[in-house]
Amino acid sequence: MNPETRKQVEEELSRQIHGVYCRYRKEVHGEEYWTKGNYDLLDEKTKEADRYMARFFLTLASRPDEMKGEEMRDRLDWATQILEALQDDSPCEFDHHGYCQAHGWLNEDRCPQDALKEFLASRTLREKG
Ligand SMILES: [Zn+2]
Repeated sequence: MNPETRKQVEEELSRQIHGVYCRYRKEVHGEEYWTKGNYDLLDEKTKEADRYMARFFLTLASRPDEMKGEEMRDRLDWATQILEALQDDSPCEFDHHGYCQAHGWLNEDRCPQDALKEFLASRTLREKG
C-alpha cells in the first residue's frame, strides 16, 4: 500500500471507529454522543485518537507475521490501558429482564462492563504471578 492510499484507508477506518465509539456511547451509556456519529465535527486532536486506533488495526491486519512478541505485548498493554479507562467501577445491577441498569446495557447478552472486569482482573493476576 503506498503512503497516500494508506493515509486514505487510515482516515476511512478512523471515521468508522468514531462511529463504533458513538454506538458504544448509545448502547452502554444510554446517551447519544454529541457528534451523533459525525466524524467531521471532531477537532484534530480527537480525530488523532481514532487514527491511533486505525493505525493499530491496520498494523495488525497488514503484517501479523512480522509483529514481534515484544511489540504485541506493548500493544496489548496499550489496549489494556484504554480498556481500563473505559471501565466503570460500579457493579452491574440486573433488572428482571437481565438488563444491566447500572451501565445502561439493554441487551440480554453479558454486560460488557462485566466482561471488562473479568478481562482486566485476569490480566492483573497474570502480571502479578
Ligand atoms: Zn453492567
